[in-house]
Amino acid sequence: MTWRTHLAIGANAVWLTSFTKNPDQSLLVFLPVAMLASLLPDIDAAGDGAKIHYVGGGVLSNFKGIFTGRYFHHRGIMHSVFVSLIFFLIVYLINFFYLNNIYPLLPYVFFLSYISHPLIDGFNTSVGYLYPFNRKKIALFPKLMLSPVKGFTDKILFVIGAFGILLFFLMFAYYYLL
Ligand SMILES: [Zn+2]
Repeated sequence: MTWRTHLAIGANAVWLTSFTKNPDQSLLVFLPVAMLASLLPDIDAAGDGAKIHYVGGGVLSNFKGIFTGRYFHHRGIMHSVFVSLIFFLIVYLINFFYLNNIYPLLPYVFFLSYISHPLIDGFNTSVGYLYPFNRKKIALFPKLMLSPVKGFTDKILFVIGAFGILLFFLMFAYYYLL
């Protein structure tokens, strides 16, 4: 998927706040965190492969040369369930020990947004979900049904994601600001 589609879909992790009784200013933290988490997996898109796309138009090209090798390549370990869980744990510990647990939902928002990225990449092509335990890359649909980056599914998901965020803030305004 293109980075804007990841961003639009991943940002919807803020819907998790609707499970809490009174969403407050924590949304000001959750939204940017969700946006960052949705783009983070593609830090590996700075490898030496043929079809390389750089997140946000080249910001991450600074990491060129790091993400090459058996596990470190595009849609490799950074797109795995394993690394998603590691990040969950890191954010959990940061919230617990450094932020005095003032954002209990933070690790879940981060995780949901992060894992949404490899999940929708699986509509485009095969992804290293099981890295580092299994190096087989898996697509979520049969090859014939996969849609390319910038293809139909990509565009539809962007619209769904953008609409989801709009709906979230409309409802947020309706319930808490009016
Ligand atoms: Zn990706």
